[in-house]
Amino acid sequence: AVGEAARSWTGPGATSDGHRVDVLANVQDGAGARAAAERPVQGVGLFRTELCFLDRDVEPTVVEQADIYGEVLAAMRGRKVVIRTLDAGSDKPVSFATISDEPNPALGVRGLRLGLRDPAMLDRQLDAIATAAADHDAPVWVMAPMVATEQEAAWFGDRARSRGLVPGVMVEIPSAALLADRILRHVDFVSIGTNDLSQYTFAADRMAPSLSRLTDPWQPALLTLVELVARAGQDAGKPVGVCGEAAADASLACVLVGLGVTSLSAAATAAPLVGSKLSAVTLEQCRAAARAALAAGDPAAAREAAAAALA
Ligand code: PEP
Ligand code: MG
Repeated sequence: AVGEAARSWTGPGATSDGHRVDVLANVQDGAGARAAAERPVQGVGLFRTELCFLDRDVEPTVVEQADIYGEVLAAMRGRKVVIRTLDAGSDKPVSFATISDEPNPALGVRGLRLGLRDPAMLDRQLDAIATAAADHDAPVWVMAPMVATEQEAAWFGDRARSRGLVPGVMVEIPSAALLADRILRHVDFVSIGTNDLSQYTFAADRMAPSLSRLTDPWQPALLTLVELVARAGQDAGKPVGVCGEAAADASLACVLVGLGVTSLSAAATAAPLVGSKLSAVTLEQCRAAARAALAAGDPAAAREAAAAALA
């Protein structure tokens, strides 16, 4: 029955009592965006631009970058697209951008820190994104990865806004979650990256299967940080998305909505299951599931308590 409901779900994302939640896709190139556009998604919540350049030794020109970003915008035909600036480094090395001799790259100069080191490179990418947005007359939001402080958010927000782009930042470092209210003074939205937020909250490598009990997105400590960020978004009247793998788990997606998250972005293949599950529950059930999961002692108990609230 679940499979059938998922197959027939056509969107847009909403609870059974009509609370709207955008169900979006994570993509990494034009081909992925064209595949995602076949599914009932309201747009792209995370375009990982660094994955376009893993095989490049030299930074692509502004014109070339604008063409690549434009392919994704063209595929989405006017649906919202959130483009992330280069998240090079650590698990995503890009040879023209990444510093190669760091002893601990996950804690090194990666993501926006590379832009702070070489602002001209970030500016070329923002120029390319602005060009693609103008060429396609598309609603483009742009966000920075690995933001740690309010000052970094303000610095990025100014640069993006001066090019007519809607600026946001990812919340994937605990310091950014703790001060999300201050960060939201400087940008128009935030998107929580649960993959890295788990890694940095639990000091547990996201790539290590032996630590997956810690990086489990149902961990109550992670959900507590999500709640903090969602509250900050509600107080500021600004959107708070989740674009990590947590958003692909249909039950957890309902919990995230109950915590106050306003959009969910994951692999496009997950959208039908997430959308149909959400359409089968009320906002109050999502809130009850969120309260139960937050109060649980561990991920297994959180899953069980949420399932009961959503049944
Ligand atoms: C995340 O960290 O959750 C995220 C969405 O970014 P990435 O997986 O690309 O690091
Ligand atoms: Mg990340």
